[in-house]
Amino acid sequence: MSNKIIVVGGGAAGMMAAIIAKKNGADVTILERNNRVGKKLLATGNGRCNYTNINLDIENYHGKNPRFAYSALANLDVYQTMDLFEKMGITPAIEDNGKVFPLSFQSSSVLDILRYEIEDLGIELITEAYVVKVDKKKDFIITLKDNKRYICDKLILATGGKAMPISGSDGNGYTIVKSFGHSIIDIFPGLVQLNLEGNIFKQISGVKFSGVARLYSMDKLLIQDSGDILFTNYGISGPPILQISRTALEYMRNKSPVELDISIIHSKSQYELADYLNKRFNYMPKKHIGEALIGLINKRLINPILQEIDLDRNKEVHKLSKKEIYALSNILTSWRFNIVGSQGWGQAQVTAGGVNTDEVDPQTMESKLVEGLYIVGELLDIDGDCGGFNLQWAWSSGYTAGMYASN
Ligand SMILES: Cc1cc2nc3c(=O)[nH]c(=O)nc-3n(C[C@H](O)[C@H](O)[C@H](O)COP(=O)(O)OP(=O)(O)OC[C@H]3O[C@@H](n4cnc5c(N)ncnc54)[C@H](O)[C@@H]3O)c2cc1C
Repeated sequence: MSNKIIVVGGGAAGMMAAIIAKKNGADVTILERNNRVGKKLLATGNGRCNYTNINLDIENYHGKNPRFAYSALANLDVYQTMDLFEKMGITPAIEDNGKVFPLSFQSSSVLDILRYEIEDLGIELITEAYVVKVDKKKDFIITLKDNKRYICDKLILATGGKAMPISGSDGNGYTIVKSFGHSIIDIFPGLVQLNLEGNIFKQISGVKFSGVARLYSMDKLLIQDSGDILFTNYGISGPPILQISRTALEYMRNKSPVELDISIIHSKSQYELADYLNKRFNYMPKKHIGEALIGLINKRLINPILQEIDLDRNKEVHKLSKKEIYALSNILTSWRFNIVGSQGWGQAQVTAGGVNTDEVDPQTMESKLVEGLYIVGELLDIDGDCGGFNLQWAWSSGYTAGMYASN
């Protein structure tokens, strides 16, 4: 008897699930609401597709129960993923922090090889197929927006979360899973730029530097990351900010105090920098402090920083007190900001929260509430750090569901 599987959503997880199920002998159809599959995949990794990470650890995953991800990540681990993709045509290039990209450095090549595989295996792909309702009698009955209906034995839901809604994953999948009695852990944008309090941001918007971002709650360090940081007109952006954003927003949602600390200069401690500033100012005693910082930090930061510590930009540096030099070295190594929110779903790279993983079998991705229903990818309450971990979750969870649904 043939096993008819329908995959709803042709993103990373859905395509992987379909390919594996078909290879395993099932009759597979993908229903994708857009006029093509993999729209979001094209935007990943700044168009370069950071498709996995060789330093993967369960600690890179978040949610109510991150360990839920363990089995799927073992069913298709990082090296098996790289091998699978290499056999489909993607030569891996390993960059900083273990990030893996296609050697072509084009997301479109990852999508091309997946589309080729879908076609070559004879998977039925129906685009512009927006699923609005799923019922289950003995079989699943799937209804599209245009009222067309499809029937299958097993259903794999891979509709994504809510990040980047223009890609097609706009949160509508939660309505479908809820109709089966599943509960949703509150969602919020993850890997997202932060809005900061203050009126200096228009003035410094566009200033980029290599720095360190640290997140504190009542002086306890929660998380830190380093790399390119960018001030924007609403606050702050850049990879380290995205990396710490989930923790920041989670604390804020729990009404716990949280504060952002930025090191513009991170090669020296505050005391070393104070010594260095003393030495530096001895070279140029007659210069005004506004001029004496040129060449040390981005010029556009000088006035706002001096205003922050209440230092007259026209003061000659030989007249600076010890306390003033200390305040300067303090703000350059540890500039504190209040976080007031984040950018929205349109800017977020992932969804934190999603389908409650207590209701899904971690070994198979099958729903514990509805036999034959599989839930994968970002739709579940699992999200990863920045660096290839979210796509790896999509591949591994999709692989697992494809494998078990077709058995
Ligand atoms: C800008 C950006 C950059 C990113 N870069 C990276 C990166 O470099 N590395 C990394 O690991 N992760 C990255 N991510 C995260 C990663 O892309 C996602 O976590 C991953 O694509 C999720 O896969 P998915 O298959 O679960 O969902 P999606 O890729 O969102 O796919 C869901 C699919 O379902 C379709 N769909 C939704 N509802 C329906 C419906 N009702 N009927 C039919 N079809 C439907 C959608 O159109 C979509 O095609 C990035 C995300 C963004 C937004």
